[in-house]
Amino acid sequence: MRCPYCRHADSRVVDSREADDGQLIRRRRACPECGKRFTTVEEAVLAVVKRSGVTEPFSRSKIIAGVRKACQGRPVDEDAIALLAQRVEETIRARGAAEVPSHDVGLAILGPLRELDEVAYLRFASVYRSFDSLEDFEREIAALRGTGNVTSSGKDAARAARTAG
Ligand SMILES: [Zn+2]
Repeated sequence: MRCPYCRHADSRVVDSREADDGQLIRRRRACPECGKRFTTVEEAVLAVVKRSGVTEPFSRSKIIAGVRKACQGRPVDEDAIALLAQRVEETIRARGAAEVPSHDVGLAILGPLRELDEVAYLRFASVYRSFDSLEDFEREIAALRGTGNVTSSGKDAARAARTAG
């Protein structure tokens, strides 16, 4: 690894340790030329397989760009989008697979985006699931409303059951 300070072509590893539960390795390196130290991070490349079969490296900034587009004009700040992208990456990396279909990346975005902003979620889902009619939107909106109702009545039922027991 080239030294980032003096551009010397080689450096020496002085320490290696695992981080993030073994997901990555940090190495402390020293430059034999200028003596400065720096850190490198090594992690497995996560490949995204597109529908065409072409693979490309997973990119958090691509997720951010897509979500930002869906959030245009919505009261969602950059920090929330960055956090969402981080969650998506963690979800996908947690599976431990070397390759992930781009479809799964989209799915992993939908859940947290729905929590963040329902309008942005609808926009993203409309592109991602290729909505082509008003009915598609209506169905999705009904599902959004339905989820809310089911969750609260489910909780109520559970509470009632606990009280009764
Ligand atoms: Zn150096």
